[in-house]
Amino acid sequence: MKLKNWIAPSLALAGAAWVLLPTNSEAYVVFGTGLPTGQRDFRVYNNFTDSTANDNQTPDPNFPGAQGAVMAIWKACVEWGSRLHGDGTGDPSQPGDLGSGGANFDAVFAGEATGVGTTDDNVFSEIAGSSGGVFAYTEVPSEDGWRIRFYSTWQWADGPGTSIGAGTADLQGVAAHEYGHALGLNHTSVAGATMLSAIIANGVPMRSIEQDDIDGVRAIYNLASGTKPVITGLSVNGSTITITGQNFAPTGNEIWFAPQVPTAESMAWPVVVLPNQGSTGGGTQLSVGTPFGAGDGDIVVKVPGAGFATLSNAWPADVNAGPACTTPGNSCGPNPNSFSPFGANMGYSGSHSIAQNDLTLLCYDAPPLKLTIFYYGRTANGSYPFGNGTRCIDGPLYRLLPAVTSDATGIATRPLDLNHMPPGGDMIPGSTMHASAYYRDPAAGGASFNTADVLSWIWCP
Ligand SMILES: [Zn+2]
Repeated sequence: MKLKNWIAPSLALAGAAWVLLPTNSEAYVVFGTGLPTGQRDFRVYNNFTDSTANDNQTPDPNFPGAQGAVMAIWKACVEWGSRLHGDGTGDPSQPGDLGSGGANFDAVFAGEATGVGTTDDNVFSEIAGSSGGVFAYTEVPSEDGWRIRFYSTWQWADGPGTSIGAGTADLQGVAAHEYGHALGLNHTSVAGATMLSAIIANGVPMRSIEQDDIDGVRAIYNLASGTKPVITGLSVNGSTITITGQNFAPTGNEIWFAPQVPTAESMAWPVVVLPNQGSTGGGTQLSVGTPFGAGDGDIVVKVPGAGFATLSNAWPADVNAGPACTTPGNSCGPNPNSFSPFGANMGYSGSHSIAQNDLTLLCYDAPPLKLTIFYYGRTANGSYPFGNGTRCIDGPLYRLLPAVTSDATGIATRPLDLNHMPPGGDMIPGSTMHASAYYRDPAAGGASFNTADVLSWIWCP
């Protein structure tokens, strides 16, 4: 039977219940020997029932692949980390400062779990019902694992803003408190600290750990060692991941990844490991192929040996970044017209980068001085009679209005403004675009109009 270490809504309630509650202390209280390097993982079983617990669907590059309750809990745990998690951003209540512990301790997001797990499976989840004034609790001792539950009677909110609404409790703030128990801290009496036994306001102020909390995590794990491996950057290029940092071992490094899919509660961490990796650059770089089964989450580097300082900080990795962007290429021609037996062909100037937003579509060899309308779609699998030619782009089609007029040499030009695309036609990094143009061609007779070939590409960031 595990003890439950909990958070209550008021000091009065907090004092009413529990033997481990500190009575004479004036600062942080330690009650464990700390999580070994094999227990730094945390997962989320996202069974939260309140819509407000999962209504944040805005992606954050520091928390790749996560939304809602999962992202909020991820932020809560990495705040205890030795140094900034990625660039430290993601929480409006502490801009650029997620990762404040400074100890030989880092929590590592290991993806989602498929159930609540046992008391040792390191999973966050909701539990139906209530227990007096208790918001949530942590099942300890934690050296061999822990479990954290949030009572469903409270209305949980995932933020990320600091105004989470009247009557709601902040999932991130309460999770930060509970995870403090998991890593080995008891309640403190220092005002404003995350480990205070009573919730502060709606919990938002508890997202950020304070000096007393920092002193606590450092008391258990010691100040971050000068030999602790450190990740300072990570880049993903196709299936190659390059990790930069310091203090990687010359040989024998292990790189631990989050699994690509939710894992069974009984999973022993880590499940996706690249063993025996050599570093280059005097221990400053690791360049590896993405292992099978790796997914979005935190990456850590484990150097040989034992002890708290042999595991690096956690760094977010978007290892499945989606399809790579592609250079525009032509297909679906020719459609001969009255000006050219080869028909009109699409071209472009500028870049196919969303951020640059400077792409101009061109149509060559249309009949001179004729109205031309550029259009596009997201797929191009069909073949449809269209005017005097063939259209290969499937509906829905998006027209780029107004029409333009081809010049005296038969070139029509249409700059794109990605901020003002037709309704439903927005493009983001990874979006596929198939673009063409149709133009008047009365000299050819027939339907008196025709279409260019197709220019296709995937947008880059
Ligand atoms: Zn507590």
